[in-house]
Amino acid sequence: MTATRITIAGLEKEFSRAGQSTMAVDGVSLVVEPGEIFFLLGPSGCGKTTLLRMIAGFTEPTKGRILFDDVEVTWLAPNARQVGMVFQSYALWPHMTVAENVAFGLRIRKLRSQEIQRRVHAALDVVRMREYESRRPNELSGGQQQRVALARALVVEPKVLLLDEPLSNLDAKLRNDLRSEIRRICKQVGTTTVYVTHDQKEALAVADRIAVLQSGRVCQIDSPHRLYSNPSSTFVGGFLGEINLLRAKVHQRGPGQAEMTTSFGRVFSRHESADRAIVGSSISIGVRPERIALAEFTTSEVGFSGTITTVLFLGDTTLLKIQVGEDLIRVSAPSSRIYREGEVVRVIVDPSDVICFEGPQDDPAST
Ligand code: ADP
Ligand code: MG
Repeated sequence: MTATRITIAGLEKEFSRAGQSTMAVDGVSLVVEPGEIFFLLGPSGCGKTTLLRMIAGFTEPTKGRILFDDVEVTWLAPNARQVGMVFQSYALWPHMTVAENVAFGLRIRKLRSQEIQRRVHAALDVVRMREYESRRPNELSGGQQQRVALARALVVEPKVLLLDEPLSNLDAKLRNDLRSEIRRICKQVGTTTVYVTHDQKEALAVADRIAVLQSGRVCQIDSPHRLYSNPSSTFVGGFLGEINLLRAKVHQRGPGQAEMTTSFGRVFSRHESADRAIVGSSISIGVRPERIALAEFTTSEVGFSGTITTVLFLGDTTLLKIQVGEDLIRVSAPSSRIYREGEVVRVIVDPSDVICFEGPQDDPAST
């Protein structure tokens, strides 16, 4: 079976309730390529579930179109779309065994029992749960239950697999283990997958591409690496991980580079976003805490002088807050040496790590 392309064009969903209306999804257009693992990432309430439910057919759009390959499915009933869904709650039937749970969708379709058994075994093999086929859900861990839910979704060979926060009921260790498992399973089966989460680490680890949503709109669609290293706005930059946002005034611009004035001196950017900087304008510059290097004050002339105000030892890294000019900069340093509050250090930033954002904006993560 060849994989399906999902095309979403100008999709909107407006909820009205007691005279109040909410634009849950506000003009979303995107294409999910065949076999791709595509993430919808954003804070709670940004419209992820509503968008996913429209792809599944559980929610009718107010406007716009959804196509699976060349077939418009916008108004098709869920069972006519051939989608498989996995939710946060495992929603397994407690009175059925693992095998019976997985077989359910095939029994409804009245397949021959030999064929059902073959496909149930194949699906359980994919999620590595074959040896548990006779157990009931309450005899399984949360992670195992979610594997069964995945097998149940995959066994009907859906055109599209839809996952809504599938790991958020699991503890941190299981969540980590299942991340790579889900990616392996989706790639092995080859089904086009749309995966909803508010957890940026999960998205970065599992996705081929991610759409970051805010208030029902798409902010940016890119690969995990590009989203992290070249966010198009302070919102995206802050949502994907820690970032220092500093106010700066653009002093000079050359091809692929900009020179800014900050509270602590001249800063260069040779990041690809430097082309956004307009001479004379006030902008925000962003630097990830792990991209900042420190040198001993006495041994170096490069960088900027700063005073460590806070030290948080995290084991592999140490999180520091450093007062540099009027800015408090967060630095994630290797724990190879001990840092002390009050210590004066030099803060070194490579110009290729200085991201330029248009205009001074608020950072959602810094509150
Ligand atoms: P997310 O999954 O990103 O947390 P949702 O898609 O569930 O967000 O919700 C997006 C917005 O739409 C929220 O403001 C939510 O309150 C609203 N919403 C979702 N479902 C309904 C509904 N059935 N009726 C009214 N408002 C809804
Ligand atoms: Mg949701």
